[in-house]
Amino acid sequence: MVLDELGRSLSSAITKLLGRTVADEAAIKEFVREIQRALLRGDVNVGLVLEMTERIEKDATKEIPPGVSRKDQVVYSAYNELIRILGEHPVEPRLEKGRTNIYMLVGIQGSGKTTTAAKLALYYQRKGFRSGVVCADTYRPGAYQQLLQLLEPYKIPVYGEQDGKDPVEIALRGIAQLRDDCDFILVDTAGRHKDEKALVEEMEELAKEVKPDRIVLTIDATIGQQAKPQAQAFHEAVGLGYIIVAKLDGAARGGGALSAVAATGTPIAFVCLGEKIDDLEHFNPTGFVSRLLGYGDLKGLVERFSQMEIELSKEKAKALVSGRFTLDDMLEQLQAAGKMGPIDNLLKFFPGGHKIPEDALKGADQKVKKWKAIVQSMNRDERENPTILDSQRIRRVARGSGSSERDVKDLLKQFNMARSLMKKFRGSRELRRRMLGKI
Ligand code: GDP
Ligand code: MG
Repeated sequence: MVLDELGRSLSSAITKLLGRTVADEAAIKEFVREIQRALLRGDVNVGLVLEMTERIEKDATKEIPPGVSRKDQVVYSAYNELIRILGEHPVEPRLEKGRTNIYMLVGIQGSGKTTTAAKLALYYQRKGFRSGVVCADTYRPGAYQQLLQLLEPYKIPVYGEQDGKDPVEIALRGIAQLRDDCDFILVDTAGRHKDEKALVEEMEELAKEVKPDRIVLTIDATIGQQAKPQAQAFHEAVGLGYIIVAKLDGAARGGGALSAVAATGTPIAFVCLGEKIDDLEHFNPTGFVSRLLGYGDLKGLVERFSQMEIELSKEKAKALVSGRFTLDDMLEQLQAAGKMGPIDNLLKFFPGGHKIPEDALKGADQKVKKWKAIVQSMNRDERENPTILDSQRIRRVARGSGSSERDVKDLLKQFNMARSLMKKFRGSRELRRRMLGKI
């Protein structure tokens, strides 16, 4: 397993929390402390750790949605925070079909650059691209041999010059030679120089002349938090497309390296979990964190929460803005939230002057059950168009749902109030823009 120790301590914190009968304040505090300890041991930046655990604690005092326990909520919150520090979205580094994609790999000596070049070449070869590698490292004797050895078995061509001196010329000659037979050419570069300035200058020069589609940085995970200044320096010098974090297998400080790199804003597209040519993995923060936490039903839990969140925000807001706000929408929302809160929350996005009547929100949670039964007793036409509910229909619905006619009328009144507000918002293009911008 990746980052064994960090994973073990995080999952043990979770197991302990889940093993308690109640997740009271003391239990949550202890959980948070254990998460803190685990992350700090993994060399994650102190500031980041404090911020994230503060948010977990704050979340733990929030009201929880129906159908989930306090423990679920705390675990979910920890999961979210971990994803947040690792960068939320996976990068899908696609190559363009029908042309030669040229990538340049940079990174300091020993970071795993050459190995990673071979891994990437094979990765894309298996995806149907014709890969080729150019060795433009004139400092390390044997760099060319290293590539040949790694790639020979896969019939991936390697261009190198035994006595070449000028990396720019080698790179350009290599690209010219491979171009016709390859649609993915990787230029491997040197990592050692007389000093860092000279290295950066060489990379700038190469980037200028080679004009790669993307420059990719390899970083050694064992350097932990130090990955941040390194990533920043390269990014400032040459502009990085993405970063590959190598040697994550058995790196006790891997958590620090990943979070430090993510904090630079340059995405991590792959991680390397071993020195073999197959040990390259597309980096997906969600999957990675699930594995790290080793929490069996995390996927189910996350799905339940995100389902709720979707219902609460996206779908609802879209429905409201598109003008479809039916009793069904309202019921869905009530079921998801158990209260009118979400509508209230949506309204916060709007500038002042559009206050929803207190009445429409107050005490709504107690009414939810009743309202649900009422709406379910209506037929489809009535749900979609409640104005057809005359006194005869109201009587039928009341009977069917075991409530009074007054209750049904009350629901219709609240619904009409909410809907007329929605109509007001809908009329404003500015409001629509603001609202859709938020979801
Ligand atoms: P370069 O100097 O940046 O080109 O680095 P190399 O590719 O030559 O790698 C340096 C050393 O690290 C070699 O011994 C590799 O076998 C090893 N290495 C590279 N990637 C990984 C990895 O993901 N895991 C482990 N354990 N070793 C790696
Ligand atoms: Mg090398």
